[in-house]
Amino acid sequence: MQDLALARFTVDRAVAVRSNPDWLTDAWQSSQTRVLIVRDGKIPVTDELSIIWVKPESLSYNVVDFPESVMLLGIDDDHTYVALLGSSEDLEATAWVSVRDAGAQMTTRDVGLAVTATALEAWHLSHIYCHKCAAPTKVQNAGWSRTCPNDYSTHFPRTEPAMIVAIEDAAGRILLGRRVGWEQSWYSTLAGFIEAGESCEAAVVREVFEESGVVVERESLRYLGSQPWPFPASLMMGYRGLALTEQITADQDEMSDVRWFTREEFVAGCTNKTLQLPNPASIAWRLIENWFGETLPRNWSRA
Ligand SMILES: [Zn+2]
Repeated sequence: MQDLALARFTVDRAVAVRSNPDWLTDAWQSSQTRVLIVRDGKIPVTDELSIIWVKPESLSYNVVDFPESVMLLGIDDDHTYVALLGSSEDLEATAWVSVRDAGAQMTTRDVGLAVTATALEAWHLSHIYCHKCAAPTKVQNAGWSRTCPNDYSTHFPRTEPAMIVAIEDAAGRILLGRRVGWEQSWYSTLAGFIEAGESCEAAVVREVFEESGVVVERESLRYLGSQPWPFPASLMMGYRGLALTEQITADQDEMSDVRWFTREEFVAGCTNKTLQLPNPASIAWRLIENWFGETLPRNWSRA
């Protein structure tokens, strides 16, 4: 699965440009620069879900005195793309959306830049202070690191790996669960964070057993692909695998229900809305589609 909705990225990330101290001055003076404002995890879009890009000259933002909120996203033949974090700039946007909701319908160029901007905003908001000495850190490298002026440590935006898996049994049924707090009809593939010192595959086996009581055949696991899920900092790594056991004992703390669905039960549930699938931008949607073997109708999603 190389074409996952939020994994799409076509613009050069221009890593070499980040360390150029003049990059921002140059970019801000160029008529080719396009600015994406990110605010609380949301971006401004048109009715057709195209990003509303702004030219630097039309912004009142004081980039000379406050350069720390501008991040370099990438450069292509047409433009230099930058993100401006948290600005209260008034835009004539028709809507502010999260890539979580709109990502599957955005163009490849737009979604890649919007996902990166979303991830950077989430990281900067939660890493204002040094985790070694608690001093306020300074943004460096065009938004791609922060340095502590006190102990000179450097901090980089990190992603937290998580696994997600479509498990099926010998009869071809798929294992789906409803997390605590979800609506009655919401079901998805099982997922969880990878613990310190743990491999992805071990996490799949452990999490499925913890959440459902089902034992997974580790040798059956097939890795299908990954996508960033910057809400706030995950990287979802998708698998398919086979169950060695069928008995379900749902983890009462995490899951309201876990059950097996035959193809017939799955189609019937989705059709009468007693079963609603995750957002089409999610890797869960694609894993379920991979099991189903054909394109899922969009209205089977809860989104
Ligand atoms: Zn420090």
